[in-house]
Amino acid sequence: MDGCYGQVLTIDLDKRQWQVEAVAEDIQRTYLGGKGLATHLLWENNPAGVDPLAPENCLIFATGPATGSAVWGGCRYGVYTKSPQTGFYAESYSGGKVPEAMASTGYDAILIKGACDVPTALAIFPDRVVFHEAGDLWGQETYASEDAVLERFRRNDAGFKRPGAVVIGPAAEKGIRFGLLKNDHWRSAGRTGVGAVLGAKRVKGVLFQGDRRRPLHDEGALRAFAKRLMKESRDNPGVKAYKSMGTSQMVKIMNAAQAFPTRYWSMGTCPHWEAISADALHARCEVEPHACLKCFMACGRMTRVKEGPHAGLTIEGPEYETIYAFGGLCMIDSIEAIIYLNDICDRLGMDTITAGNLCAFTIEAVRRGRVDYAVDYGDAEGVASLLRLIAAREGIGAVLAEGLPHAAAHWGLEDIAVHVKGMEPAGYDPRPLKGMGLAYATSDRGACHLRATFYKPELAGMIDPRQVEGKAELFIDFEDRLTLFDTLILCRFYRDLYPWDDLREMLKALTGLDEDIPRLRQRAAAIATLTRRFNIREGLTPDDDRLPRKLHRRLEDSDLVVTEEEIGTMVQDYYRLRGWDQNGLPQPD
Ligand code: SF4
Repeated sequence: MDGCYGQVLTIDLDKRQWQVEAVAEDIQRTYLGGKGLATHLLWENNPAGVDPLAPENCLIFATGPATGSAVWGGCRYGVYTKSPQTGFYAESYSGGKVPEAMASTGYDAILIKGACDVPTALAIFPDRVVFHEAGDLWGQETYASEDAVLERFRRNDAGFKRPGAVVIGPAAEKGIRFGLLKNDHWRSAGRTGVGAVLGAKRVKGVLFQGDRRRPLHDEGALRAFAKRLMKESRDNPGVKAYKSMGTSQMVKIMNAAQAFPTRYWSMGTCPHWEAISADALHARCEVEPHACLKCFMACGRMTRVKEGPHAGLTIEGPEYETIYAFGGLCMIDSIEAIIYLNDICDRLGMDTITAGNLCAFTIEAVRRGRVDYAVDYGDAEGVASLLRLIAAREGIGAVLAEGLPHAAAHWGLEDIAVHVKGMEPAGYDPRPLKGMGLAYATSDRGACHLRATFYKPELAGMIDPRQVEGKAELFIDFEDRLTLFDTLILCRFYRDLYPWDDLREMLKALTGLDEDIPRLRQRAAAIATLTRRFNIREGLTPDDDRLPRKLHRRLEDSDLVVTEEEIGTMVQDYYRLRGWDQNGLPQPD
């Protein structure tokens, strides 16, 4: 089928062997690529109940029909596995330049199983896989590791595109359950601990390089489609906002909505929000917009700290989620200090959302006398020390490295621990935004804000944020459309630019599939149901589709609340509309 290579590469690290298998035409037509194909492969290949850090747990890289095409927002890759953080389905996505290098190897998906007996870097080319001994890189931080992998393991064949590499940092090497994958220095497949899975396989990095191009159904139509989108969207207010302020714009918006998580999920407004806002970032630092390939939105910020103890520090970021996690939850009131903490997490290779949540949780544990450690709200150096202890698994860090549910049980603080299925929510408090409560409760990968990005319709006035009845219908509309985004694979921030009709047109030009919108919804629903089946096979029960107790308590700075009954109603509506029973079980095919 057009839009797909029709090939999957399987690498067996135990045997140091690799093989290429054709993807049957009906599988291509059913699952397309990206999330669809990878979920099918995970379902077929992963042993039920496997330990996520065991060699048998498969890790799958995938690109989609849009990767490498002219489609704006199409420079993304996905990683899929069983999560060491949640014990359930894991997916994580990243952009930058690497996705095009990954796609140029000529595979729709690359499945890695087994484990190496010594630290190794893999180099994947269209005609072979090379195993390089990488003991000298073990222990190195992510930026240096990526540079080293690119420098040493590329192949200089004429016609090959520029290589790209994904790497892990010291945290993932040590099995920290929220160790991530880095590429292009600052881009991350950040959530669910996909880096820890690669670390358990003793793979320090993977280089991709090749010269292959997907067969596309109608390149002329795609170019015309891309040209029209650019013309129509140039003056779109959302595009302009992302380009001028990046995701840091959300600090002001969320604080105004009383949904900016503050003081470890106690408040929805932050007293120092202005000091950590987009305006502060752009006034206090040198900031340039920065984009992934094939993007005119350029939400990234190349940021250089101008003054103070961190003067000269340069990162791409900080993203809104990092600002909320350290600035809101941990009450750090300096944008430069947040950049500093962001840099530590990036170098060590840890997810900033989980890291910030764990640090704020530790502050609560200290304040309640459950743990003897010196850190408090607003204490940037204390938080920095804690991050380093976590990555090294030293002292209190060894407890936190196992994730929030483990630390909560260890300190007897389950009552205040904020997570769903073991993963902490992003920076959208569900008490003012009840649809985000539904999102956190039902997402397959834990408390995820991205599967439906439902803060968008709730903040934009498309639906009343307090509404409960009838909310699941619009939620599923968003979730299904974005499931197709993850299958093609497209950047989330293009969601307003690709409504259903555009998605339909794009799919036809990429693959030749000419389908109406109900059929596209069916496709997405089938992928959602397969993902659900995977989680049920791993032990998921309706009890996992709930919010933590703390999020059902009233916010301290407002009377906003979301009750268990309200979440229960939305979840039951969601199950019903998905065609699942009252326990969330899909019906037999
Ligand atoms: S909007 Fe941001 S994340 Fe999305 S493709 Fe552009 S730069 Fe990358």
